[in-house]
Amino acid sequence: MDVLDLSASYDADFVARVQAESGQNTALCYQCGNCTAGCPYTFAYDIPVSRIMRLVQAGQRRAVLSCRSIWLCATCESCTTRCPNDIDVARIMDVLRHMARREGFATERNVKVFWDSFLDSVRRHGRVFEAGLLARYVFLTGRFWTDADLAPRILPKNKLGLKPHAIKGQAEMAKIFQRFAEQEGRS
Ligand code: SF4
Ligand code: SF4
Repeated sequence: MDVLDLSASYDADFVARVQAESGQNTALCYQCGNCTAGCPYTFAYDIPVSRIMRLVQAGQRRAVLSCRSIWLCATCESCTTRCPNDIDVARIMDVLRHMARREGFATERNVKVFWDSFLDSVRRHGRVFEAGLLARYVFLTGRFWTDADLAPRILPKNKLGLKPHAIKGQAEMAKIFQRFAEQEGRS
């Protein structure tokens, strides 16, 4: 097991920001481990989710924001459902991912590229344009054969439109992105 240096400086501002942005009281966590036991990605995480909670309590900003786990989390909410103290752990993972992105920690670059490509597609078209998302992701990551084996099954079913379809509420969608950008600028 890795040894984490908890004597490294306690970042009180980090703890306060995580609590404010998630609306959760991280101090309630008593390390029962239920979240980790139910997390389907514990096998792939570099730091299990209950340990991330402990590191947040200990104000270990760098250790938390530079871990892979926050990028691999599937937001399945199993941790939230299992927490005996009603902590929305999945929400905290989401907040940590946003913070990591803002503060230049993108430990899983390909996940971040996918995330950015997805959001860019929604911003441009009001809904995701799968072919465009795939093209951008493949171009930026160099993963040219990603899911190529699925093409013979998907294409005959017309499930992958080759042209984007704009939605009616494009203006409302633009406002959502603008609000998000303003919030990001404030935090
Ligand atoms: S939301 Fe994320 S951390 Fe929580 S159980 Fe699901 S994959 Fe694990
Ligand atoms: S289930 Fe809740 S109390 Fe238990 S370790 Fe996870 S966050 Fe902490």
